[in-house]
Formats: sequence, structure tokens, C-alpha cells
Amino acid sequence: MEIIVLYGGKSAEHDISVLTAASIIQHIQYGTHNVTPVYIDINGHWFAGPNMSEKPAADINLRFNQAENGQAVVPTDILSEDKDQVVFPALHGPNGEDGTIQGLFESLNVAYVGAGVLASAAGMDKIVSKHLFNQVGLPQVPFATLNAYEWEKDADAAVAKVTESLSYPVFVKPANMGSSVGISQATDDAELKAALALAFRFDRRVLVEASVENPREVELAVLGNEEVFVSVPGELGKGQGFYDYDEKYINNSTEMIIPAKIDDETVAKLQAYAKEAYLVLDGSGLSRADFFLTQEGDIYINEVNTLPGFTQFSMYPSLWEASGKGFDDLIEELIQLALNRYNKKQ
Ligand code: ADP
Ligand code: MG
Ligand code: MG
Repeated sequence: MEIIVLYGGKSAEHDISVLTAASIIQHIQYGTHNVTPVYIDINGHWFAGPNMSEKPAADINLRFNQAENGQAVVPTDILSEDKDQVVFPALHGPNGEDGTIQGLFESLNVAYVGAGVLASAAGMDKIVSKHLFNQVGLPQVPFATLNAYEWEKDADAAVAKVTESLSYPVFVKPANMGSSVGISQATDDAELKAALALAFRFDRRVLVEASVENPREVELAVLGNEEVFVSVPGELGKGQGFYDYDEKYINNSTEMIIPAKIDDETVAKLQAYAKEAYLVLDGSGLSRADFFLTQEGDIYINEVNTLPGFTQFSMYPSLWEASGKGFDDLIEELIQLALNRYNKKQ
């Protein structure tokens, strides 16, 4: 089987995606599979690296380009329903995790790892996710939404709409983003205006939600298609403040506590909620469900990520490791889940 690892991309999460791809490429079963790495540069252009039937050196330069080590390609040069192949998208954020590229795979009728179009799009959209989670009774913080028309027409009225139902502090988030990009906290009307102005630079719709004070941040890994498995919970042992982009990817200062020190009853609830969130979004393959736990023991679902960080040091594979499934087995299982879903549709 040819595994096409697709990574990079026109995204704020470009660099983390390259790291994710490097980890995946190191842990695919060579012999059973061969690998074609396909790098999407920051402008959205595709470059194919050499097909590899053996594990490459760990420090292989995966940033292929036309001038040196790669070949410029368009998707249909690489993807074909007539080939024995599975695409492993290692892309994060918009254009990778949001259903758009999954739509391309569907159109070309190729098998691919992870969530389909609907779950990807709904999972990436924090507003749609909230509505679906409400539908199945998942606990979440109160929220309000605004669109660009409301914001541009009358900023004061937009602020008033939010403060009618929410009290400060609040979190302001573009509906479709990841890696904390465009997200900020506001403690009064002036800050809310600034936060909305920032968020509307990234999207036409913005979510505002009540802040959880100093929450524990707990994450669970979900794996499966129709039959769904949930890992033990892990916790982000963080410093002060919120888990922003620098904290996630630059400072590398966030410690993971796996398994999180949480009582059995709460763990069972978290696992049931993670599964429920997965099912209501029509998840398949994998996703990571992220929760807030208050000091009083209340649980709120924050979001799901359908293509979570996937380096050897990331939460998702580490949670499976702690649940008894190693990185190599995890990759192989994801490939098999991709094939199972594909074969059901043929
Ligand atoms: P992203 O998809 O970019 O990861 P999140 O919604 O997970 O966006 O928000 C990023 C971070 O901001 C969270 O991990 C958390 O640290 C903080 N945060 C977000 N919403 C809240 C909230 N309602 N209360 C407290 N902290 C929050
Ligand atoms: Mg996210
Ligand atoms: Mg998050």
C-alpha cells in the first residue's frame, strides 16, 4: 500500500504539521507500505518527494521544493482511485482540518485517514460544534455569537448583544481557527471591542463565551469509525494564563500529565462525553476531545480537534501509549480505519 503523507499547508500551523509528518513517516510499517511524502508549501503549492520503501533518516529534510529535492505536482498527479493508496493528511487548521481537503479526497475517490468532510468542517467550526453539543446535552459554558454584518453595522450594539447574556471575563474566538490564533480574553467593553476586532480579522463569525476561571485542561483521545474507543485522560500542566500559540508550539513549556489525576467517576463522565461529541459530529478515524475541569469538579467540553498534534511528544499519541497502544500500532490502525470506511462506500 502506498501511504501518501500530506503536510505543511497554507496555515498558521505549517511548521507543527511538518513535525507531525516527520513523526508519522518514522512510524509507518515499511515492507507492508511504501511512503510518498507530499509537502504543501506556505503558498499552497504541492511538491512530491521521492517514494520511499524504507524508513528514511530521522533528519530527512521534508520541505521539498522544485529547485532542490522535490517535484511540483498537482493533486491529480499523485492521487488516483486506480492506485492502491491511502492519504494520511498531517495538516492542521484551516485548509487541512476543516473538510476542504477531505472534499478533494472524496471527489477523487481515494482513501484517507481521519474525519470525513462533515466531521472535519463541523469540528473546526466552534459555533456549529457548540450547537451540536447542546443538542445532545453536553455540558458547556454559556456563549453568544456574532456575524460580520452585526459587527460592522454597529459595534456598540454587538457588544451589548454579548453582555446581555454573558458577564465578564469572556473569551472571544473566530469560529474557524486553531492554535489559539485570533483568540483573546476580555474583561470589559473596551477589551471586548478590541477582541472582536481581532477575531473578525480571521472569520466572518465569532464566538464569545464565558471564561472558566483557572480551569484544569483535560484531553482525551478518541479512535474508531462506528465502534469508538476512548483513551485515559491527560492534563496540560500549564503555568499561568491560557494555552496560547506560543505556549503550544514555541515555549514548549507545557507539561503533559498522563493519566491525569482525576477520580474514576469523573473519568467515566469525560469518556462518555468524548464519545458522545465524536458521534454527534460523525467522527471517524481519530479526534481529540478537550475539556475544562473547574476547581469545584464541574466539566465543560471546550472543543474537538479532528487532526490533533501528532508528533511523538504530542498529547494524542501519548494518550494511546498510556492506554497500551504504541505509536506504530496507532498509525497502522488509522490506516486500516481509513480503508474500512473507504471500502464501505464502494
Ligand atoms: P484552539 O482551537 O485555538 O485551541 P480553544 O478554544 O481551545 O482554541 O482555546 C485556546 C485556549 O484558550 C484553551 O486551551 C484555554 O487555555 C483557553 N480558553 C479558551 N476558552 C476558554 C474559556 N471559556 N475559559 C477559560 N479558558 C479558555
Ligand atoms: Mg482547536
Ligand atoms: Mg484548543
